[in-house]
Amino acid sequence: MRLGIISALAEEQLGLVEAMRGPSKLIHGMRDYWAGTLWEIDAVCVLSRIGKVAAAMTATTLVEKFGVTHILFTGVAGAGDKTVQVGDIVVAEALVQHDMDASPLFPRFEVPLTGLTHFQPDQQLSLRLSRAAHEFLERDFLDAISEGERQAFRLAQPRVHRGLVASGDQFMNDRVRLEALNAALPGLVAVEMEGAAVAQVCYELGVPCAVIRTVSDNANENAATDFMRFVKSVAAQYAFHITRRVCRDLLKYPLQPSRVSAGT
Ligand code: SAH
Repeated sequence: MRLGIISALAEEQLGLVEAMRGPSKLIHGMRDYWAGTLWEIDAVCVLSRIGKVAAAMTATTLVEKFGVTHILFTGVAGAGDKTVQVGDIVVAEALVQHDMDASPLFPRFEVPLTGLTHFQPDQQLSLRLSRAAHEFLERDFLDAISEGERQAFRLAQPRVHRGLVASGDQFMNDRVRLEALNAALPGLVAVEMEGAAVAQVCYELGVPCAVIRTVSDNANENAATDFMRFVKSVAAQYAFHITRRVCRDLLKYPLQPSRVSAGT
């Protein structure tokens, strides 16, 4: 396997590139692709930048130019539901582009000509991710996140959620809009700006992918407050330790070949 790891923000990627053995950098399409091994897994790390087009272009390049066989997206997201708190982890079970609306020609959220509103990530890889996320919270969390940061962000007992992730080219910071989206998309757990674009590319190219997000904000009026501090001191640690656990797990128990399945 060759694992492509996409991060949206530089702070989230830094630790991974530092942990890479034998890293070599190749610049393509205004992005730095770092190839090497991560905990003995052949990997390519890249910063997608923000938004659906940026993420789609990055995912396509990873597959077509760098020959990755699997893609993992790690990043942060706004909570998509009241049960989801800052500091929780979300593993996507399905992904939807919430700003896709070609109605009345196609149903709302349907990506024209795919017949799909929801794209499904690879089940095996997603399962490994949730397992790594649980283990991170049980075993690494208290050491990885300082007490000061745990208090500042009220991270008492973070949880792992599996559910629907909605992506769009908007930073969601409006309670009313979020509630409307939550009502239109049953099972919504997180909102972000890249995951569903990566999921569509991977579906169309037949490459298994998985998306994990640390919840950085409540997608309401306070969403931007302390956002970068959270990314640096909390989310970057989550991404690092969870990726480390996933790589170790994949080395020990390689994935079985799986058919890429579509959504509904
Ligand atoms: N303030 C940042 C902008 C970050 S954009 C800056 O100046 O650089 C938000 C990034 O985090 C995107 O990659 C997106 O996927 C994710 N994200 C976190 N919270 C979000 C929210 N409430 N709505 C949409 N995307 C969110």
